[in-house]
Amino acid sequence: MSGNGRKGKILVIGGGISGITAAVEASEAGREVVLVERNPYLGGHVAQMNQYFPKLCPPSCGLELNVRRFKTSPRIRCLTLAEVESISGGPGNYHAVIRRNPRFVNDKCTACGACADVCPVERPDAYNFGMSSTKAAYLPYDMAYPLQFAIDGSVCRGSECGECVSACAYGAIELDMKPETVEVDVQAVIWATGWDPFDAGKIAGLGFGVHPNVVTNMMMERFAAVDGPTGGKIQRPSDQKGIESVAFVQCAGSRDENYLKHCSGVCCLASLKQARYVREQYPDAEVYVFYIDIRAPGRLEDFFVASQQDSKLRLVKGKVAKITEDAAGDLEVVAEDTLSGQQVKQKVNLVVLATGLVPANGRPVQMDGGLQKDEHGFMTVTQPMGGMFAAGCAKRPTDVATSVRDATGVVAKALHFCGE
Ligand SMILES: Cc1cc2nc3c(=O)[nH]c(=O)nc-3n(C[C@H](O)[C@H](O)[C@H](O)COP(=O)(O)OP(=O)(O)OC[C@H]3O[C@@H](n4cnc5c(N)ncnc54)[C@H](O)[C@@H]3O)c2cc1C
Repeated sequence: MSGNGRKGKILVIGGGISGITAAVEASEAGREVVLVERNPYLGGHVAQMNQYFPKLCPPSCGLELNVRRFKTSPRIRCLTLAEVESISGGPGNYHAVIRRNPRFVNDKCTACGACADVCPVERPDAYNFGMSSTKAAYLPYDMAYPLQFAIDGSVCRGSECGECVSACAYGAIELDMKPETVEVDVQAVIWATGWDPFDAGKIAGLGFGVHPNVVTNMMMERFAAVDGPTGGKIQRPSDQKGIESVAFVQCAGSRDENYLKHCSGVCCLASLKQARYVREQYPDAEVYVFYIDIRAPGRLEDFFVASQQDSKLRLVKGKVAKITEDAAGDLEVVAEDTLSGQQVKQKVNLVVLATGLVPANGRPVQMDGGLQKDEHGFMTVTQPMGGMFAAGCAKRPTDVATSVRDATGVVAKALHFCGE
C-alpha cells in the first residue's frame, strides 16, 4: 500500500548511528523527519566505543560526519530524552504520541559547566556503566550532541538547592520544567532502537558482579577510552594494577540455550579489537581468547588474520564453564579445550566477558505495517512496503558499516512507500 500522496513526515525512533543515518538520508531527500531518542544525546552505543574495527579509528570520526549533516539539516526535529508512548492509525497515516522528559536545561546552555561546578549531588555515570560519577547537572560526554548539559531529575534537589540557577550566567537552568507530550502525524515509521548489552550477572558461573576483575566488553571500551573512568588506562578494577594477562570469554550468554540463542554477531571482532587495546598498553601481556567459533564475516576476516600475528595472543577453542577469583584478585578461567580434549585452567589478572546484544527494550508500542518481533525480540519485516521499517541492530546484531548501509536502504524503501 502506498502513502497518502502528500509529502508527509517520517518518524525515526532511536538516535544511534542507524537512526541518525536514516534521519539525515530522509531529510536530505526532502522529507520532514522527527527523530526520537531516549538518551539526552545522540550516537547510541557507538558514542561509547573507544575505537571501531576494522580501521580502529575513533568513533567520533564516523559519528561526527553524520552529526554534522544532521545539524545542518533544516528538516529534522530532534527530540532527546523522549520515548514514543503510542502509535495509532495505519500505514501512510500514523499518529504518534511522544513523551519528552524534562532536561531542566534550555537551549541557552553554552556547556560552560558552571552548573556542574556548584552542583552538590553526585550520581553514577550511566555513560561509563556506573564506573565513575557525575554531578546531577552533567554533560553526557565531551563530544555529545546536543552539546548541552542536562540535570538528572531523579537525584537533583530542585529549588531546595538551586545552586546551579544562581551559577548559570545564561539563564539556561529551568528546574520547574515539566514532561511534555508531543503528537505527530507521519506517513512512515523507522525503528532504529538498536540493542542493549545482555545482563552478564545472569550468566551462572562467570562471576560478573561477584568478582570485580570480571568486566564486560562494553566496560572494556570505556576503560580504553581517554574520556573513560580511568582516563584510558586499562587496569584491574579491584586494585588499579596494570595487566599481565587477560582472558576474553566469547559467547558470554550468546549461542546458549539458557540465555540468548542467537549469535551476537560482533563480539568476536570486538574482543580481537580489544586485544589490540591491551597490546598497545602492555606489549608483553598474555592474551587468551576462549571461543566457540570465531565469526569474522566478509572482509572482517582480514582483521582476524592480522590479529593472529600477535605471538602472545592464544586462541582456545572451548566454552568457559567457570571463573573463580583468589584472595589476590587473580582469576582462574576453566574451560574444555575442544581441540585437545583437555580441561584448561588459566590464571589471568582480568577477564572480559564478550557479553551479547539483546534488542533494546522500550515501552511496548503498537507495531504493524509489516513489522513483527522475532523469537529473539529483534524486529523482522513481514511485508516489505507496509509503512513501518526497521534499521540496524533493531533487526539483528551487526556492525556499524552494515547498520549505516541498512539504514540508507531502509530510507529508500520508506521514500518509495511515501510516494516519492
Ligand atoms: C563491545 C562491542 C564493541 C563493538 N565494537 C564495534 C566496532 O568496533 N565496530 C563496529 O562496526 N561495530 C561495533 N560494535 C557494534 C555496534 O555497537 C553496533 O553496530 C551499533 O551500535 C549499531 O547502531 P544502532 O544505531 O543500530 O544501535 P544503537 O547503537 O543501540 O543505537 C540505538 C539508539 O536507540 C535509542 N533507543 C532505544 N530504544 C529507544 C526507544 N524506545 N525510544 C527512543 N530511543 C530508543 C538508544 O538510546 C540508542 O541511542 C560493537 C558492539 C559491542 C557490543
